[in-house]
Amino acid sequence: MTQDRQPPISPSDVVIEARDVSRDFGNTHALANVSLRVGRGELFGLVGPDGAGKTTLIRALAGLIGVNGGRVLVLGKDPLKNPALRDAMGVMPQHYSLYGDLSVGENLRFFARLYCLSRKQYEQRSERLLALTRLTPFTDRRADALSGGMYKKLALACALLHEPTVLLLDEPTNGVDPVSRRELWQLLHEFVGGGMAVLISTAYMDEAARCHRVCLLHAGKVVASGVPALLVRELDKPVFEVLGGEREALHRLLAATSGVIAASPAGERLRIVLERDVVSRVTQEVEHLGARLSPVAADFEDVFLASSYTAMREATARRGTESASEVGRAP
Ligand code: ADP
Repeated sequence: MTQDRQPPISPSDVVIEARDVSRDFGNTHALANVSLRVGRGELFGLVGPDGAGKTTLIRALAGLIGVNGGRVLVLGKDPLKNPALRDAMGVMPQHYSLYGDLSVGENLRFFARLYCLSRKQYEQRSERLLALTRLTPFTDRRADALSGGMYKKLALACALLHEPTVLLLDEPTNGVDPVSRRELWQLLHEFVGGGMAVLISTAYMDEAARCHRVCLLHAGKVVASGVPALLVRELDKPVFEVLGGEREALHRLLAATSGVIAASPAGERLRIVLERDVVSRVTQEVEHLGARLSPVAADFEDVFLASSYTAMREATARRGTESASEVGRAP
């Protein structure tokens, strides 16, 4: 597993912590020994495909579900046992609902009442949040008449009304147009600039690369963690574009070749990540198909694919060892 090479966050700055956390749903290990720490003023990405365990961890951190093993701590306390922690937390779950028949302003007022804000606090904060999210011109628009991106920004504004110091966001940009996505990220950088700790889950690799630090999850396990640019720089698997040849035939060849970590379309070409020891063999094989390999710089998606591939191979090898020892134990 790629290690986090950042200097450790000083204990007094740790805001969010998962220590060896496991959570099962029946036979599904949604989280297996997951550890991470998020500090004050840090934008931390929980990155992984669907089913990786991101929502489960966020729900545990929000105090909505318990864990089977390990501990989750927010500001040093167990969120399940300390409901008062919610005052310090802003949570934006993946599926949330605002009041569709209430306007933008009315939704904010509703949440202000829920958080017991004074009228003055509500007025000052909602004005600022509407300006930040550029929703001021839409204050009177019904929530169900907002675009997807505007709706998410309103949800974010509602989650921030009580000025939390910890923000948990579960795939907030899923299904959001590129402009709103960029705006949301600008907002997040402003918040962390003010000292907030933000944990955001995403399946988008370009978003992962914008976080201060990330934890890559695959099938409930941490497969890599650290500073995105460092993870890219330290990737020890070569990356190539395949030039020439016929795409379908190349795809078939690469899919059947061991040591090919990933092969995905990059515009007109194929982009591949290889185990170092198969480079010369794959070079020869693609040449037989009239193509050649051209080295390219790795990006964050390559890191993710390589980490997941390594984790899968290790799991397969472990299962093999386990079944071999089962055979050995047979009477
Ligand atoms: P992600 O957010 O990365 O898509 P989740 O945390 O939602 O992943 O899910 C992780 C795994 O746990 C998946 O296999 C999912 O089907 C399973 N899971 C999550 N919640 C439940 C639940 N309430 N009941 C049963 N299985 C669940």
